[in-house]
Amino acid sequence: MQLILDALRGNRDDAPARRLIEAFGADPVETTARRIGEPAVFSRHLRFASGGEIVLHDDAVIAVILHLTANPFTPRGLDAAEWIPRIDNRATFAEFKAVFDVPWRFADGDRYFILEGAYLRPEFVKHGGRRPGDLQRVAFTVDDPKDTCRPADEDCPACRDLIARTEEGAFDVDNTVSSLLSGVGTGVLTEARGAVSLDDIRLLHASALMERVESQVTCTACGRVACLTLYRDSSPTFGYVSLDAALRRPLEAIPPVEQWADAARIADARDAMRYVDHEPGSWFLVEQHGDLYLDARYTINSMVDDSCLIRLNDAERRQYDEAGRDSLTALARRIDSSSPHREESPFHLRNLLRHPDGGRDYSAEFRVAIAGHTWLARQKQAAAQRVRAASASDG
Ligand SMILES: [Zn+2]
Repeated sequence: MQLILDALRGNRDDAPARRLIEAFGADPVETTARRIGEPAVFSRHLRFASGGEIVLHDDAVIAVILHLTANPFTPRGLDAAEWIPRIDNRATFAEFKAVFDVPWRFADGDRYFILEGAYLRPEFVKHGGRRPGDLQRVAFTVDDPKDTCRPADEDCPACRDLIARTEEGAFDVDNTVSSLLSGVGTGVLTEARGAVSLDDIRLLHASALMERVESQVTCTACGRVACLTLYRDSSPTFGYVSLDAALRRPLEAIPPVEQWADAARIADARDAMRYVDHEPGSWFLVEQHGDLYLDARYTINSMVDDSCLIRLNDAERRQYDEAGRDSLTALARRIDSSSPHREESPFHLRNLLRHPDGGRDYSAEFRVAIAGHTWLARQKQAAAQRVRAASASDG
């Protein structure tokens, strides 16, 4: 393990990195090289048949990954016991905790340890870590996993090539927007709620009403969030962050559409759902063509929640007219306790997100309606709750 820690941060040609390369088997069986993001970083992955992987950013070692299971470049994977004292390939999170008696934290579903000068992240199968055999990889990184993505995800085939460049290699914002839109179109990417829609980012930037206009898309394969940010006073940037880090990014409120959009876009907005009110952590109310829609959050179990969007019926509207927003909180509570994902719930078939009428994409329309509102605060709250619940169940 000392061999790994010594190589981190150093240059590829320094003695510690050369020693590590030798120990992994001298010649990589696979080498990838690509420029990532803007400002661009030159990333290289050296993969060895033994199961070792070295990740370089601009020739500095930023991560070392021990692959412990078979995959296309390694027939068996490494034997963890040869690399980490008192840890073997069947180690559970509890065993890591016993060996590394140092503080640990959460990053995007994984837990990681803070060593001196490096971070150690055991990567288990999804939601795993309790059973022997869950362990897939161990990553040592220079950067705090809280702020960065898993180094292995740099090679995610679904999202590694989203950025467009001109022939001269300059960042091409227009074609990057097109590339992101086509990813959304094919379902590989989803646009994040709360950020500026990709359809609007150029118009908003051109209006100079916002200092910083950002669109975010989430990769459905690896979960990374790609952020395209256009600034009023400086060069545009593009980069990948973890979902948690994306939620911490500052997002400005979006000015009213009449102030920045063209006539067609304004007409669309008039036709579209629009935000009316919301209760943090519970519900949103939106309006369209005189109809009111309630989006109510409900829990499936302690780890998973979802939302149910219904069109208010006459009785519910009357209650809202008479009792105001309290009636919506009560209605949201009834929806939650009826478990609308189950067929027995009276709200099951009314959920327009699952049973849309007229083939409409209510989810997308609703997302646009609440963009720029306090959805983000609600997500942060939910994420914090999940972390608390997970630490409690972990003991
Ligand atoms: Zn991806």
